[in-house]
Amino acid sequence: MPDERYSRQIRFVPIGEAGQQRLASSRVLLVGLGALGTVTADQLVRAGVGFVRLIDRDFVELSNLQRQSLFDEEDIRNNLPKAIAAETKLRRINSSVQIEARVEDVNPSNIEELLEDVDLVLDALDNFETRFVINDACAKHRKPWIYTAAVGSYGLVMPVIPGTTPCLRCLLGSLPAPGTSPTCETAGVVAPITHIIASIQVAEALKFLTGTLDPNTIRLTAYDVWSHRFQRIDVGSDSMATCPVCSDGKFEYLEGNPLRTITLCGRNAVQLIPEVKGDIDLKELSKSIAAFGPVQFNDFLLRCSAPPYELTLFKDGRAIVKGTEEAGTARSVYSKMVGS
Ligand SMILES: [Zn+2]
Repeated sequence: MPDERYSRQIRFVPIGEAGQQRLASSRVLLVGLGALGTVTADQLVRAGVGFVRLIDRDFVELSNLQRQSLFDEEDIRNNLPKAIAAETKLRRINSSVQIEARVEDVNPSNIEELLEDVDLVLDALDNFETRFVINDACAKHRKPWIYTAAVGSYGLVMPVIPGTTPCLRCLLGSLPAPGTSPTCETAGVVAPITHIIASIQVAEALKFLTGTLDPNTIRLTAYDVWSHRFQRIDVGSDSMATCPVCSDGKFEYLEGNPLRTITLCGRNAVQLIPEVKGDIDLKELSKSIAAFGPVQFNDFLLRCSAPPYELTLFKDGRAIVKGTEEAGTARSVYSKMVGS
């Protein structure tokens, strides 16, 4: 009974029957399944968007549950990657939506393939490095995308229609230096702001996908849930004239080398991404790696605790080493325990 499921949304005049049909044939890429992404994914799937590709590189941890609404304690006990845990919940919510979950890092080597067959890209990331890659890729392929960010009690949303409205580089210039932007690890975050910001993102997405988003109304929306300060900021098309992406078609972040190691700021951890994707037999590896300490594994990842370090290894060879912020130390833990 699809009509029954979407009846209240169809009765909402700006969407209607025609809008609902457009949603059903829409394809969306959602990057990041943290506090923003879980709320966005939940609402998109409930709304009946036809195809949703979810991508996240991380696994579910206890500190996520305060705000990341698709996850629970069972996911932590099962050591599930966020993309897999989210996919399982979302299928239960709406089995008519086609969901594709990818446990991967998003970087210049895969972003173009990830977005080539979608209508809209939704940013629910926690770092600017990857957002600048998305900004370049979306501009290059003329894919609309919606930027979001949230930290503390404050958040931002801005749709970007390449060639028509200002992009992230129009707004921010270049990538902020490491350590200059507050993060959820350093400044904390409250759940209400992430849910509000994600909800605004989904509203903009529904408008775009049903053909009712007027580009002239696009602004940077900023809201602070503690002070109730709400702003709609006109970034202005002047910035587009001097933007390397919008005016010169230069994609510096997309053409950069894929990152080999990324320090996960404030988490005392480093992520390692091998140049070539592997297909590791985790069961086999669990035997040899047991020499370093207790091992747990499932179909998706393996975790070995070797104090002061803890290694989490994903099937494609990507790893997160906890207990250090030094890339060199993390590399040596990886090569000792996994081999490289
Ligand atoms: Zn621009």
